[in-house]
Amino acid sequence: MASFFDTKIEYLKGVGAQRAELLQKELGIFTYGELLEHYPFRHEDRTQFHKISQLSEDMFAAQIIGRVTSIEKIEGKGKGRLVVTFRDNSGYMELLWFQSIAYFEKYLKVNAEYVIYGKPSLFGGVFSITHPEIELTTSKNTTAGYFQPIYPLTEKLRKKYIDSKLIGSWMKTLLDQSDSYISETLPHSILTKYKLVAKKYALRYLHAPQNINELTHAHRRLKFEELFYNQLRLLKLSLVRKHDYEGQIFQKTTLITEFYKEHLPFDLTGAQKRVIREIFTDMKSGKQMNRLVQGDVGSGKTIVAFISMLMAIDGGAQACMMAPTEILAQQHYTNLKKFGDMLGLRVELLTGSTKKSERVVIHEGLRNNEVKIIIGTHALLEDVVQFYNLGMCVIDEQHRFGVAQRARLWEKNKHIHPHIMVMTATPIPRTLAMTLFGDLDISEIDEMPPGRKPIKTVHRYDANRLSVFQFIRDEIAFGRQIYIVYPLIEESEKLDLKNLFDGYESIQRAFPEVPLSIVHGKMKAKDKDFEMNRFKKGETKILVATTVIEVGVDVPNASVMIIENAERFGLSQLHQLRGRVGRGAEQSYCILMTGYKLSKDTQKRIETMVTTENGFEISKVDLQLRGPGDMAGTQQSGLLDLKIANLAKDEEILKIARENAFEILGKDPEFEHPDNFPIKQHIEKIKNKDLSWSRIS
Ligand code: ADP
Ligand code: MG
Repeated sequence: MASFFDTKIEYLKGVGAQRAELLQKELGIFTYGELLEHYPFRHEDRTQFHKISQLSEDMFAAQIIGRVTSIEKIEGKGKGRLVVTFRDNSGYMELLWFQSIAYFEKYLKVNAEYVIYGKPSLFGGVFSITHPEIELTTSKNTTAGYFQPIYPLTEKLRKKYIDSKLIGSWMKTLLDQSDSYISETLPHSILTKYKLVAKKYALRYLHAPQNINELTHAHRRLKFEELFYNQLRLLKLSLVRKHDYEGQIFQKTTLITEFYKEHLPFDLTGAQKRVIREIFTDMKSGKQMNRLVQGDVGSGKTIVAFISMLMAIDGGAQACMMAPTEILAQQHYTNLKKFGDMLGLRVELLTGSTKKSERVVIHEGLRNNEVKIIIGTHALLEDVVQFYNLGMCVIDEQHRFGVAQRARLWEKNKHIHPHIMVMTATPIPRTLAMTLFGDLDISEIDEMPPGRKPIKTVHRYDANRLSVFQFIRDEIAFGRQIYIVYPLIEESEKLDLKNLFDGYESIQRAFPEVPLSIVHGKMKAKDKDFEMNRFKKGETKILVATTVIEVGVDVPNASVMIIENAERFGLSQLHQLRGRVGRGAEQSYCILMTGYKLSKDTQKRIETMVTTENGFEISKVDLQLRGPGDMAGTQQSGLLDLKIANLAKDEEILKIARENAFEILGKDPEFEHPDNFPIKQHIEKIKNKDLSWSRIS
């Protein structure tokens, strides 16, 4: 049934065929419904007027009524500029244009009265606004205050004079026509309980707010709705899964007791114990575990994984661990084999470079249950890899693997799906994890093993390079090893490598007697591993690299991490890189090198790095600086297309939305209750557009 909201946008008064085509191409807006869902990302406060004498530099924007008293075109380098003197009865200021000079020179009239709006800045004691919005005064724009919604736009649209004002006026027209068609999407009980305004008011208050109060109500309501449906979908996914998939019950603890009594190399931290308990509870529950274990670099996830594997093995099953690279797989293998040997458990490694003859033996061992633990890369996913009874899978460094690969691991036990534990070394704030991985339960190892020396992190300017080199020389003389990392400049691989090779050469010149390694993304995996291994064995003292060394690599003797062009790295990436040092007994250092000119955001990133080592804290700042869209692992999730909620700010709303989604699903999973009818109806509607809904309902 075609509804009012399916009406093509060109039929809206003032739009027409040409603009409709532009809206489709540039913003993907085809229908009335899609236009209404084109939310403004901020609003300009036009409710207040300011006097020129009231201006201050920290004002975000000011709105002033006054007269133009002089117009002067100043020729200069390039196109020159237009300088306009603007007065009210409290003083004068300047308006500046560097673009569209000819247009404004013609449009502006001395002595005419205008309303202007823009950000004031102070220069030589005189306030000015560059490229202000400017309109002749009318009875409307000088009295009735309003909030101007600002919409996402493109350059093409602006060129055709489609701006926020115009879109705002279309919204008003559309809202007036659609009043009786907008149906509620949330249960009445929720609206009352949390004092949320009805959907139709929320849309009106968002697109055409009369005052700040309306705007606040609109935001609260629409954010709630967005997060509620986000959580409803994720929870429904996980309920379907929990309902559908039983899990093997593992509760024998003979092996674990032996390991604890005889072999445990250190006392577990409180956080490790807590997470192990959470995992055990899952494994005894009779349902398949799907758990995300978050923990900072060095928080000790490996042993947690191993102890969980023992649980499965004690129950007669096998365990596997999948890592994103060969070198990481190799590292895990070395660690886990050590533990495995203590208990007489056969542990094997399977990667792309495992020899054919060895492979055959391993495959055989997996089929007949002689191999208890297998570590590997993607090679584990191949069909020839068959288990006697796979009971537990650990996936390291989650964000390199997609959901699809997780599912392929499930299929390794057709009889009864293995328990899944996903480990990530980039902790992300719980709010984000909940929305991203809402189908996983979350555990956090938020405590470091005792006795670890904090890494000394400092910021140095490029101009201090000589003293940094001296420091490197001293550390090498003490027997330490050094990482020097160069950024990836994604736009240009060539530039990238040039950057790296230039750096390599200058280091060669500065340290002619020191053996160096170089590793970058363009090298063959084999050559990369060869160089990495030379460094690991201590044959080379300095490793010059791009970010390929970011994840998981462990060289305890490397105690200095130097990050060149640190301003080019994201915060979590800097933190990841720093995590490569501080693994041995020696004092470790991280040196962030930058030029003198730093943006505010960069300063914040550097300052955060220098002041804290806590990955959870760092990811919080990262989320605030960048927004969730850019954070590790969010791109491929596809779950994060939030239009109005902001995960860095709306944690509280998210929590309430999640609780309510959970409660409703528990009581009325099919939304049969009359109060939940709006939900049923809304899902029916969005199902066609959003495949992830149709899969579960
Ligand atoms: P990550 O979480 O980064 O994978 P690892 O599991 O590699 O961390 O552990 C880092 C180091 O800390 C390893 O050398 C490990 O043996 C050690 N470790 C882990 N847990 C503890 C603990 N409770 N006490 C002391 N050392 C520990
Ligand atoms: Mg690890």
